[in-house]
Amino acid sequence: MKRVHNFSAGPAVLPLSVLEKAQGEFSNYRSKGASIIEMSHRGPEYTEIHTLATSRLKEITGADDDWEVLFLQGGASMQFLQVAHNFLSEGRTADYIDTGSWSSKAIKEAKLFGKVGVAFSGKEEQYSRIPKQQELSFSDAPEYVHITPSNNTIFGTQFASEPDAPAPLVCDASSDFLSRPIDLAKYGLIYAGAQKNLGPAGVTVVMIRKSFLEKQRIEPIPTILNYRTHIGKLFHTPPVFSVYMVNYVLEWILEKGGLDYFQSFNAEKASVLYDELDRNDFYQGTVEQGSRSAMNVTLRIHDEQLESVFLKEAAEHGLVALKGHRSVGGIRASIYNACPRESVDALVSFMQEFRRARG
Ligand code: PMP
Repeated sequence: MKRVHNFSAGPAVLPLSVLEKAQGEFSNYRSKGASIIEMSHRGPEYTEIHTLATSRLKEITGADDDWEVLFLQGGASMQFLQVAHNFLSEGRTADYIDTGSWSSKAIKEAKLFGKVGVAFSGKEEQYSRIPKQQELSFSDAPEYVHITPSNNTIFGTQFASEPDAPAPLVCDASSDFLSRPIDLAKYGLIYAGAQKNLGPAGVTVVMIRKSFLEKQRIEPIPTILNYRTHIGKLFHTPPVFSVYMVNYVLEWILEKGGLDYFQSFNAEKASVLYDELDRNDFYQGTVEQGSRSAMNVTLRIHDEQLESVFLKEAAEHGLVALKGHRSVGGIRASIYNACPRESVDALVSFMQEFRRARG
């Protein structure tokens, strides 16, 4: 079987060992004569998976008992709404750091519930950088400060570290969750759609601090959207297969050495690619040096037509899903945790060959 070098931004490449493990037991889970997706979500098999996934996530992130882990549905897009529905109401304010086009979606939802202060917006600079601490201007007493997102999947920027803020951070970490250590002390809530670094689409991981939840608004919240509904119990049928896969990816992360391992592994892969960009002006990075993402490397070739040729020939070499997001064009290599070093090396070799032939 030949696997491609997959640079998809999400759903994205997953560890082959995890795919094979799932494949091996798919139709007959633990000799029960049925697949895990054919069993009750309240039975012992799924209960064990859900409990293990929760404890592994806490172990990986170093979360203490103040933290709850939820496996919800509706994608990161649902969290844009759910966060605001739980913590904003008339007279309450939240600040949003606008570092990408996901921000406008999160801000739009938040405005349905309360006041939104924009602590910084990179929009006029085409989201080509992450703000410096001194550029952030906060409201008087925000309920939370939302980072949208910590890693910008579309524009290829990433916060080097968490900013200081006058309130707990709420973070859309969809495209860099578990790619490096997290300073949990700064956060009230972190959410991430699984389909980049964690597993298949269909589940959104939400980590929420109990003490932050005490700031929840008192006005009614629809049951399913209230975070409390999901704490300590299954309110409804969870996305069984997605959580099952996430559990194996978490096991793989632990086996590899956790977040410290992935931080250096990802930094190494990113630097190989950025070095190639910096070596010549045939390829141009789209992001300021200090804001470059270790997850999504975005680049352009001076001639747009050559970009199409690049993408076509790359695919012929087994290097796929390199097209930039439809809103910005160009080329984007997504190199999440499960993207092997060999894929990055193959891409760099192809880039060098292409530059020699067309430069
Ligand atoms: N936030 C970020 C940073 C993303 O990259 C994405 C998806 N690419 C989303 C939110 C939207 O996620 P979903 O499709 O899970 O709603």
